[in-house]
Amino acid sequence: MSSKPTITLTPQYTPQRLPPNGKHFHIWTIGCQMNEADSAKIAAMLQEAGYQPTEDEQDADIVVLNSCVVRQAAEDKVAGKLNSLVRLKRQHPDVSLVLTGCMVTRQQEKLRETFPHVDLFFDPSDFAKMQAVAPELAEMEDDLAQLPHYYQPETAPGASGVTAYVPIIYGCNFVCSYCIVPYRRGKERSRPFDEIVTEVERIAATGVREVTLLGQTVNAYGHDLPGTPSLADLLRAVDQIRGLERLRFLTSHPKYMGDDIIDTMAELRTTCEHMNLPVQAGDNEVLRRMRRTYSRDLWRERIAYTREKMPGVTVATDIIVGFPGETEAQFMQTYDLLEEVKCDKVHLAMYSPRPGTLSARWEDDIPHEEKLRRHQAIEKLQERLCTEINGRRLGETYEVLVEGKSKGRWTGRTRGNTLVHFDDDRDLLGKLVDVRITRTSPWFLMGEAAGAPR
Ligand code: SAH
Ligand code: SF4
Repeated sequence: MSSKPTITLTPQYTPQRLPPNGKHFHIWTIGCQMNEADSAKIAAMLQEAGYQPTEDEQDADIVVLNSCVVRQAAEDKVAGKLNSLVRLKRQHPDVSLVLTGCMVTRQQEKLRETFPHVDLFFDPSDFAKMQAVAPELAEMEDDLAQLPHYYQPETAPGASGVTAYVPIIYGCNFVCSYCIVPYRRGKERSRPFDEIVTEVERIAATGVREVTLLGQTVNAYGHDLPGTPSLADLLRAVDQIRGLERLRFLTSHPKYMGDDIIDTMAELRTTCEHMNLPVQAGDNEVLRRMRRTYSRDLWRERIAYTREKMPGVTVATDIIVGFPGETEAQFMQTYDLLEEVKCDKVHLAMYSPRPGTLSARWEDDIPHEEKLRRHQAIEKLQERLCTEINGRRLGETYEVLVEGKSKGRWTGRTRGNTLVHFDDDRDLLGKLVDVRITRTSPWFLMGEAAGAPR
């Protein structure tokens, strides 16, 4: 399906923002980009309803925690945060405490008993539930459904107004043996094609120049929609949107990374030369027990095809070390694959058993120290590889989208998603600046502006 009509109309959208009501909200977010997108939507809703954001939870009338349970460490942080709010609730009994995110799904009863000081629990993306703590939202239902997943930068501390996330498919139809996501986010549901295009148009109209389309299996987009549009079709439509300079998408599943998506990425103006393709392990037997449904060769071949079509493309992947039963030889298969393929970025995790998943029934037999050793070995490998990769960037010039300042320096990313810092006296927030690289490190680049900002 490639003949999807392109929408070129910028819709007239005038949100009915209520006047400030003197009340404040604070949102604490942990976990994946999907949670960040949900938090941005909650923030946008509350702002429409007259609430102001605050960075200090002591000043807030509503505190929202957006939780993650993908690993035990994340779950522990959420529990710690929840417990720390007992005092806040005692000092300010009127504050409304809200818990959402993956900790909530199908656990509401249990959570209510463990955390009785929390006023409201709601499932990820079930935004209408916020009415229970912000009654103003009840009158604004039609408007709110149209609100983008976007934090209004003029009133939101920390929001740059330069980049935004847009969910396009919720849930996941895979059942990787270690993963809790399908149990907490349900089956795949694609958002309607036109709704996404309209949302990106609205976001771009506010000045945002880079959009990342989100999904647990983002490249499975559309199979459940009438006419079965594909991610490639959606990329083509979004590419036409005025003001949008850069388009990214994550996370892709290797099994669905067909030629059509890669060819489309290579062809379009906005799609960035960056591929995020988690492999998780480099050993076929481990991949089989992870229920990943592909082999190391398939992943390797997809990366090779991407590099052939898009010279200079950067590659990111996810790896889990210490999966149950992972032998030293199997771990070395992962190590060797990474050494061969040379990824620009590896999101590395030590295996953490998640109650309810298949692998949680198997013995978590790799001792913590051994998981740590494997983790450190890959970190060291990446440091060496990225020293080489970034070293070759010295003297090159890259287009950087400036997202903000850090320690007095402008900071942004290349189209390949490499972090760049540079000094400049001008106000460059949200500008595209060509930066010539003068210093490199494995994790970022430094440089100086060359040419006029756009
Ligand atoms: N949908 C994406 C990833 C979703 S979870 C994919 O298919 O790759 C995000 C990352 O968390 C995963 O890529 C994995 O590396 C890590 N992860 C998920 N479950 C984990 C577990 N039980 N222990 C350790 N890491 C885990
Ligand atoms: Fe989890 Fe696998 Fe689905 Fe990714 S594809 S969310 S790892 S079950």
